[in-house]
Amino acid sequence: MSLFQTIKTPLVTYEQPLGLFINNEFVKGVEGRTFETINPHNEKPIVAVHEGTAKDVDIAVTTARKALEGEWKRITPSERGRLLTRLADFLERDIDIVAAIEALDNGKGVTMAKGDVTASAGCLRYYGGWADKIYGQTIDTDANSLTYTRHEPVGVCGQIIPWNFPLLMFAWKIGPALATGNTIVLKTAEQTPLSALYVANLIKEAGFPPGVVNVISGFGKDAGAAIAAHMDIDKVAFTGSTLVGRQIMRQAANSNLKKVTLELGGKSPNIILPDANLEEAIGWVNMGIFFNHGQCCCAGSRILVHESIYDRFLELFKKRAEQNKVGDPFNSDTFQGPQVSQVQYDRIMSYIADGKSAGANIITGGGRHGAEGYYIQPTIFADVDENMTIVKEEIFGPVCTVQKIRDEDEAIRVANDTNYGLAAAVHTTNINTAIRVSNAIKAGTVWVNNYNTLHYQMPFGGFKESGIGRELGSYALENYTEVKTVRVHLSQS
Ligand code: NAD
Repeated sequence: MSLFQTIKTPLVTYEQPLGLFINNEFVKGVEGRTFETINPHNEKPIVAVHEGTAKDVDIAVTTARKALEGEWKRITPSERGRLLTRLADFLERDIDIVAAIEALDNGKGVTMAKGDVTASAGCLRYYGGWADKIYGQTIDTDANSLTYTRHEPVGVCGQIIPWNFPLLMFAWKIGPALATGNTIVLKTAEQTPLSALYVANLIKEAGFPPGVVNVISGFGKDAGAAIAAHMDIDKVAFTGSTLVGRQIMRQAANSNLKKVTLELGGKSPNIILPDANLEEAIGWVNMGIFFNHGQCCCAGSRILVHESIYDRFLELFKKRAEQNKVGDPFNSDTFQGPQVSQVQYDRIMSYIADGKSAGANIITGGGRHGAEGYYIQPTIFADVDENMTIVKEEIFGPVCTVQKIRDEDEAIRVANDTNYGLAAAVHTTNINTAIRVSNAIKAGTVWVNNYNTLHYQMPFGGFKESGIGRELGSYALENYTEVKTVRVHLSQS
């Protein structure tokens, strides 16, 4: 099988790299395996890509180590920043191609996909700006010493990303790691390998030295596990399910105790209090759960509504959800495309079946959309109780539950009644209520009168079982640097 293929999409025709990206070249996997990636809109294969296994991870790690100790080490921080900025420029130059790849491979609406490209470029540029502003402290302990700290790169970083934002997760991961001088072996999700391979080409074009960024297409149990267990990877960053997050930690512990950061699942509460601007809140609630087809780790999937506005809320929310344009990702006005895979489709449908049989009331949706593709209707369950599986577990699809709450205290109690703690929101026009509730909720992000408004300058990550560490903002830099203390004894002569 060749290493490139011309792919025709309704938006653009472009050249898709298919190989593993190691040492700035596209190569076949050592074991010669390939796997197909499926178009979720029509359930047909798009193309086959080369598969990386543990042996390819080994090669990529050796390459990344060599780059770390060689050319990359000698490049100035300002130059690292310039390279990141160039990569951002190239992404924006190729926005139509990259957005088309995301629509094709992931199923997200092309307009949303363009938003992802812009946000990814913004993220890379932001970290480009940080590259020459990484420094430690001088510490005055006594007159006979000079003590200072250096923020050194952690080393070779393994990064494992999911399929819900293939490009954006790639940018979130590589931005802070490259700004701080690390090298990377990144594994994409097996459902969505294409955009990262295209961007790998841009990495080479931008002028990054060989071996600095290596991209492996492959499966979790093979290439992913090999990264987590590798003895020469210094740090692993993972985004995905809590289940796999636990495995990554175990593998890190059982191998070389590599540093671990995890960005995992959620079951985030979205609280609507009686004094909220209801019209606006409905818009944010809709965005909170149905954006990206519900495939967001921070999706506002548990909607907690004050009893005094509950009926009116349901009536308006149903109307709003039914207006969401569900359909072909290549239509520019599509809001919701298909779920990413048959596996995810089946998983979500089984949660819907579970909700129905547990006696929850379907306000809208609850079924398949159309005859072909992994499309699911935007689904709202009401009359749920706290112990139902659909209220407890992450569904990761366009499915939410609406619960009635009596007052602020109950809203806080129910909001915190979860093992997760990634995000939350409160809708109220009272600033005191907003701050009181935000302070009381155990979550990494709390939105007040909005939802899902992430930004690369804002740290993002989870309390409790939603993860370890923070991505984005200046906080992410801490994940990618080791602090070294240097104490110099000053001679008195
Ligand atoms: P997953 O956690 O299995 O996959 C995420 C990434 O981890 C992929 O790249 C995968 O190949 C890799 N992986 C899988 N097993 C691995 C292992 N043993 N070692 C190393 N890497 C491994 O997620 P999934 O199966 O694609 O989706 C299942 C559920 O996970 C979803 O329904 C959703 O609840 C959750 N999820 C969360 C996020 C998020 O952004 N937090 C993203 C995707 C999925």
